[in-house]
Order: sequence, then C-alpha cells, then structure tokens
Amino acid sequence: MEYDIIIVGAGPAGLATGLNLAQSAPDLAQRTLILEREHHPRSKLCAGGVLPGAEACLRKLGLDISAVPSVPVREMHLRFDGRSAVLRREPACFRVVRREQFDAWLADTARERGLAIQEGTRVLEVCPPHTPGHKAGGDGPDGLVTVRTDRGAYRTRAVVGADGAQSTVRRAVVSTQARQVARLLEVRLPVAAEARNGGDGRAIFDFSWIPDGVQGYLWDFPSQGGGRAERTWGVYDSRTYRRVPTASLKPVLQGALARAGESLDQHKLEGHSLRWFRRRGTFAAPHILLAGDAAGTDSLVGEGISFALGYGEVAAAELRDAFAEREFSFGGYRRRIMAHQIGRSLSRRAVGAALLYGLRNRRLLWLLWPLIGWAADHFFFGRDWCAE
Ligand SMILES: Cc1cc2nc3c(=O)[nH]c(=O)nc-3n(C[C@H](O)[C@H](O)[C@H](O)COP(=O)(O)OP(=O)(O)OC[C@H]3O[C@@H](n4cnc5c(N)ncnc54)[C@H](O)[C@@H]3O)c2cc1C
Repeated sequence: MEYDIIIVGAGPAGLATGLNLAQSAPDLAQRTLILEREHHPRSKLCAGGVLPGAEACLRKLGLDISAVPSVPVREMHLRFDGRSAVLRREPACFRVVRREQFDAWLADTARERGLAIQEGTRVLEVCPPHTPGHKAGGDGPDGLVTVRTDRGAYRTRAVVGADGAQSTVRRAVVSTQARQVARLLEVRLPVAAEARNGGDGRAIFDFSWIPDGVQGYLWDFPSQGGGRAERTWGVYDSRTYRRVPTASLKPVLQGALARAGESLDQHKLEGHSLRWFRRRGTFAAPHILLAGDAAGTDSLVGEGISFALGYGEVAAAELRDAFAEREFSFGGYRRRIMAHQIGRSLSRRAVGAALLYGLRNRRLLWLLWPLIGWAADHFFFGRDWCAE
C-alpha cells in the first residue's frame, strides 16, 4: 500500500502533525496514514500537566481543552529544603488531564477531520530508499520509504517519527542513540493523600534532592480518574550531567510518600524515559522527520505535551513545502524548528537545566531559592512560549 505520508505514533506529536496537515494541506492529509501500535483510549505514563503553550497550539487548530476533563492548578509551589516560591495565576497556571482521555480526544478529532488512523499496528522498521540490502523500497530518484509493520509493509514518500522517547523510526535517522535521556517514576494516589496536601489547585515541585544527584524534582499534582480526585506523585531526573553518579529515585519517592502517610508498596509504581532536546541533535534524514519525544523535548522540567503539539506545527509546514517542491531531503527542518517558538524555548530550557542542575551546593541553592523562584515565574509566564 502506498501513501504520501506515514506518521508513526498517534500521541500528541503525531496527531498534531496530522491535524495541522488537515488544516493547511487537506489534499496531503487525505493521502496520509497514521499508524499506532495501541488502541485509543490507551494509557500513557504522564502526570498530564498541560501548560499554556499547549493550549495555544490547540487554539490554532480550533480546539478547546475544556472538551476534556481537567483539574486547574492555580498555585505552583517550587520547593527546596523547606523554602517555597509560589507561582500563582488565574484561572490556572496549568491544567492536569488524564492522557488516555486527552489523546483519545485528539484522535477522535483527527478522524472527524478526515485523517486515517490505523490502530493496533506496530512499526518494526523504517527502510529509507537506498538502504543496503533493502529490496522492497524503490531505489531510483523516485525512491520510496518502506515502513515494515507487524501487519505488513507500506510504502511512502515521507515518514514522520512521532513514536515517543523509545522511537523505532529514530533508528533510521541516527546510527548511535544519543544519551540525552531523562528518567521518570510515577505513582497515582486516591483522594486521601490529596486532602493531606491541601486540596486541589496546588502542584508541588520539590527540588531538594539536587545536591544528592537527582537532576530534577519530585512532583505532587492534583489529578482525577473517572471523576474521582487523585494525586500524581513522581520524580524527574534529567541526567543533564552524566558524570554525576546516578541517584536512586525510588527512595526519594518512598520517603516523600511516607512523610505524607502513604506507603509506596500499596500503589503501582511505573517508570519511563524522556528524550531531551539538543540544539545540535539530529531531527531528520532524507524522507524522514522526527517530532515530539522522538526528536527531543524539555530537559528542564520534562514538559513534553506542548512541545509535541508544537513539533506537529513545524513538521506539517515542512511536509507541505517538501511536497510543493518535490524535494524530500528535509535539510531545512532543523532551521525551521529553531525559528519556531519550540526551538527557542527548548534551547532556553536546556540552558536553564544546565544552570540549575549544575548548582549542587545545598547552602547556595537554599540561599538562591527566592531568586530562582522569581526567575521561574518570570521565565514560565513571561519569556517562555507558554505565555504567548
Ligand atoms: C512519568 C512522566 C510524566 C510526564 N509528565 C508530563 C506532564 O505533566 N506534562 C507534560 O507536558 N509532559 C509530561 N511528560 C512528557 C510527555 O508525556 C511526553 O513528552 C509526550 O507524551 C510526548 O508526546 P509524543 O506524541 O511525542 O509521544 P507519545 O505521547 O509517547 O506518543 C507516541 C505514540 O507512538 C506510539 N508508538 C510507539 N512506538 C510505536 C511503534 N513502533 N509503532 C506504532 N506506534 C508506536 C505509542 O503507542 C504512542 O501512542 C511526562 C512523561 C513521563 C514519562
């Protein structure tokens, strides 16, 4: 089967690429197929924080997040060793969604707008034209990419790898996997813990373990599941500095839960990785683009939903121009990313991560915390694209 474009992954990056194509290049969207290994609504390990940058991307697509159940966070408490900087915004600093609901809503919208999504199809390998020993793909100037799946092979002019942090498509783009990978652990708790933490509307980001080697923070977000209040707890470790010995994350979560009167043993602990953005990273190869986590996202706080939606805008624009010019090297894709708000914001956040996680002196961090809180407020709600 042949398509002009195959998008691998129906998460926010893949669906946003499809939705942006449907909006700006409807003919191309008609000849696009989205392949997804799961079936929506599928679970995705994520705290579900949707920041204003994501809402801005959705609005450009004529979508309103209020279509999905969410919990507003009005206060962000940034903590270090008992010091707290509080960021407040009305009606919300950000909203917390359940990813299975949010992603299923995006997928339903994509289908309503004419996009074809084939679920239950796992992509096994992507073979660009001219792959040595590769017989199925065209090898001439009009060469097509072969996408091998567990349900047969597809041929296409362009592939978008939007298949997350452990991307299969990425293997066809970079030979050695870069090690810019963060680690995350997450657990969901029922409402009892929420009551102990002061109720809805408050999200906690506790950076107290930076001097112990956790290059990130412990979070405690309000959430909901099936209409019932919950809280999500987790630890994010960016691993910005790889030479710093790897800290064990489970005891951090265990200790924090114990202080809240909870036992980790009674809840399901899950872990996942997150690939972060490098300015000099690889984002494309001839006929193949990467988007979302597959390309690289925020190393400072591990925010990825808004950037995935932003990558969707950039990838769709790149595809539209490539088909107009019949030129599929995608040599300008990096430039396009860097010219977009996501490239500028991801670069600033990489600098922020290097500065913050490079400070490992407990006393100094404690003294600087009010200043760091002020900078975070200015950054997230001022300069960063979340504010746009
Ligand atoms: C514990 C945790 C907490 C997080 N919390 C937040 C948060 O609060 N806010 C925030 O903004 N970000 C958060 N993130 C990051 C966020 O989840 C990701 O950045 C975001 O999901 C990236 O979207 P994506 O579309 O690139 O990838 P994904 O959402 O991972 O989607 C990829 C899709 O591709 C499919 N797929 C994968 N492989 C294949 C294959 N071989 N064939 C076919 N389909 C395939 C998957 O099933 C999936 O549907 C968190 C991440 C983790 C791990």
